[in-house]
Amino acid sequence: GACNARPVTLPAATRRGEMGQGLSLRVGGGKATREPETPHRLECDYLVVGAGASSLAFVDSLLTELPRAEVVLVDRHDAPGGHWNDAYDFVRLHQPSMFYGLASRKLEGSWLWNFLLCRAPWKHRANKSEILAHFASGVRHWVKSGRVRYYPRCEYDFSQPEAVHSEGGTLRRFRGCDGSTEYTALVRHKVVNGTEHEPLIPSRCPLPFPVDKGVEVITPNDLAASKKRRDAYVVLGCGKTGMDVVVYLQRKMRVDPKRIHLVVPSDVWIWNRFPPEIWRRGGPWDYVHRYLELDGDFDKTLLSLEAEGLFFRLDPERMPTVLRHPIIEQGELDLLKRTNHIRRGRVSSIVRAANGKDVLVKFGPNFLPLTFAENTAFVHCCSPGPFNGHLAAFTGGSVDVFDSPTSVSLYIIFTPPASLPSCAIAYLEAAARRGTLDLEFGRNLVEDADLEPWQVLQRLFHPWPAMNRGCKEQVAPILNLALFFAVADRDCLEVLRWFRGNKLSLFSTLYYRSNMWNALNAMAAKRDVLRLTAWEERVVRKLIVKLEPIKEF
Ligand SMILES: Cc1cc2nc3c(=O)[nH]c(=O)nc-3n(C[C@H](O)[C@H](O)[C@H](O)COP(=O)(O)OP(=O)(O)OC[C@H]3O[C@@H](n4cnc5c(N)ncnc54)[C@H](O)[C@@H]3O)c2cc1C
Repeated sequence: GACNARPVTLPAATRRGEMGQGLSLRVGGGKATREPETPHRLECDYLVVGAGASSLAFVDSLLTELPRAEVVLVDRHDAPGGHWNDAYDFVRLHQPSMFYGLASRKLEGSWLWNFLLCRAPWKHRANKSEILAHFASGVRHWVKSGRVRYYPRCEYDFSQPEAVHSEGGTLRRFRGCDGSTEYTALVRHKVVNGTEHEPLIPSRCPLPFPVDKGVEVITPNDLAASKKRRDAYVVLGCGKTGMDVVVYLQRKMRVDPKRIHLVVPSDVWIWNRFPPEIWRRGGPWDYVHRYLELDGDFDKTLLSLEAEGLFFRLDPERMPTVLRHPIIEQGELDLLKRTNHIRRGRVSSIVRAANGKDVLVKFGPNFLPLTFAENTAFVHCCSPGPFNGHLAAFTGGSVDVFDSPTSVSLYIIFTPPASLPSCAIAYLEAAARRGTLDLEFGRNLVEDADLEPWQVLQRLFHPWPAMNRGCKEQVAPILNLALFFAVADRDCLEVLRWFRGNKLSLFSTLYYRSNMWNALNAMAAKRDVLRLTAWEERVVRKLIVKLEPIKEF
């Protein structure tokens, strides 16, 4: 369809040669040079790199907030939807569709239609084709409106030097993935990096250890197509993909759980998708509240949430060490429990046994290898997924969302799903442009009256450090939420209205209370537990005062 052409519906004014040639520019702040001719010259307000969930949620909200903004959207894939294009066919969202995707359209479909089919819309979990159709329809709509020009199968090189244009903006280049065409875009405002959370998935990356020739390693994508009967399946990895595979093998392929072996390198805490009394729950922030209540004791926090049915673990006798946010439901947990669990750490290699028939799975030096029959399929589920190579954000390294006056990076600032944080970043960006940020309060928070708006945002908003077990890192999502309420507009009630109107936000549901204000008070009271610096404590106390009007929410 329209999304597969390159470029899609290119407006006349931007076609080759029509913007004039030889734009004057300064490269890397150096002296003026002349730009050599390029096949395509474009002009836009934002050049957005990546057409996955993060970027598309950003574009959607940006266009709502700044309806006249012009966007150029560049992505390596053939179609919008990012990694979902490469996912296994039986994948579904791990969470309800309501809170994923684009704020402007319903991924769960019409509520009336759901009710007619006797389905609860809030339980809808979109499959791969529904997710891809959702994103494609959004992009198609924007392209049709002329506000977005979409360049699939194109690649942006983030290492290119910044070229400042003499009349404002920066010049950026991207090229077709086959290298045949180069485009130059005069970007009036910012380059938006929507690639930081690009998941590494099995169908796109090799196994991280050696495997002998002739051993059958398949990816989850191959499972459905494969009709061959195997003696056993060894599922290599117990992240969400591994869990999906175990469920699929039993529910769809009718494989006896005794023939399924799940490699569990470390036990993980798993969110219950539909906990008891879900309407009374605070969503992902329940963890933060309980963590504060229990003085920053990680294990106690999760045990107490488990007792209330919010978390699962595979084996009640083992204490998980990892919190990576997979989400499943009770029925799936039961299927996982029925299989054989291999707890010998990570696999180090898979080799042929000396008899030339059997297969040996080897682990680290402290464990003996395991032997499997020749006719065993090893299912590759050991890619890191969203915890990709860009780990600085997840570990609390020094990376910024608002990284420069001419760029912004779409990190998760609250908690997953990725969609709402991207909307929030778009809202901040639009507010900075409109002049509706509460800059005075922001400067007061960072205690520097001379900062530019982007610098205030840079100092205040940091990615959610999901892999960092430090105390204050655990409360970062709710602190970011409070900062957002405090600076996104001068009136925090206006921000509340925005959240309420955004279907991706839990605030859009009638029952939801974030308890953010109470959490801020708890942070101030437990400053020693959290090891807050004096400045951080001042920030928390100022937020408590500013956000009093919304303390009920
Ligand atoms: C199987 C699976 C299920 C998941 N389920 C959920 C869920 O239910 N809920 C949830 O919140 N999260 C889920 N996630 C996590 C997932 O990371 C996010 O939901 C989200 O889809 C990530 O989107 P993204 O836009 O950040 O990355 P992507 O979808 O990977 O999009 C990034 C895009 O950028 C493009 N790109 C990268 N570099 C360049 C470049 N230099 N030039 C041009 N283009 C480039 C890539 O080709 C890609 O299309 C799941 C992840 C997996 C793997």
